[in-house]
Amino acid sequence: MKIGVLALQGTFIEHVRAVRTMGAETLEIRKPEELEGVSGIIIPGGESTVITRLMHHYDLVEPLKQLACSSVPFLGTCAGMICLAKNVGSTVELKTLQLLDIRVNRNAFGRQLSSFEKDLHIPILGQKPFPGLFIRGPVVEQAGAGVEVIASLDDGRIVAVRQGNILATAFHPELVDDLRIHHYFLELVRHHSLIKAC
Ligand code: GLN
Repeated sequence: MKIGVLALQGTFIEHVRAVRTMGAETLEIRKPEELEGVSGIIIPGGESTVITRLMHHYDLVEPLKQLACSSVPFLGTCAGMICLAKNVGSTVELKTLQLLDIRVNRNAFGRQLSSFEKDLHIPILGQKPFPGLFIRGPVVEQAGAGVEVIASLDDGRIVAVRQGNILATAFHPELVDDLRIHHYFLELVRHHSLIKAC
């Protein structure tokens, strides 16, 4: 089982480390031909304007979409969530992969609350709270009918979702010691043939 980590910009090294700690193989993806044979894809946190631009520049958009539609699981964290979203509220235009039926607001927390850590109750991970690390993260403003809400803040704002083979968080599981989101993602990869794609 080989997990491709999009390595154009952002926290890809941290994702590689997390996945390797769990015993799975990883491959840093920068070119379309490197996608051959991967069983899962991670799009890291970072800067979505840069990542989307580079995805287009390196002709990765169509191959990534094809993989997602053939039920290969995707995990997007923070900027990665934005890159997967169908609609983005943003002052600059972003050409995202449009795989995940959500509308995100890129700068949802404003300047003062732009970075914070919050214990999140995430039922799919069990009782123990998950340390949600938010760094200028987005918020899901709207989720389509096929989108399952995985985590919300106390005020109801949605910060993690799953739509079939696509999992996305507004926070950074790759920057904390708790590996349960990565574990959950690797389970999706193991059982991907049972999951409805796109
Ligand atoms: N605000 C960033 C963006 O719009 C995301 C920040 C992050 O990934 N930590 O891409």
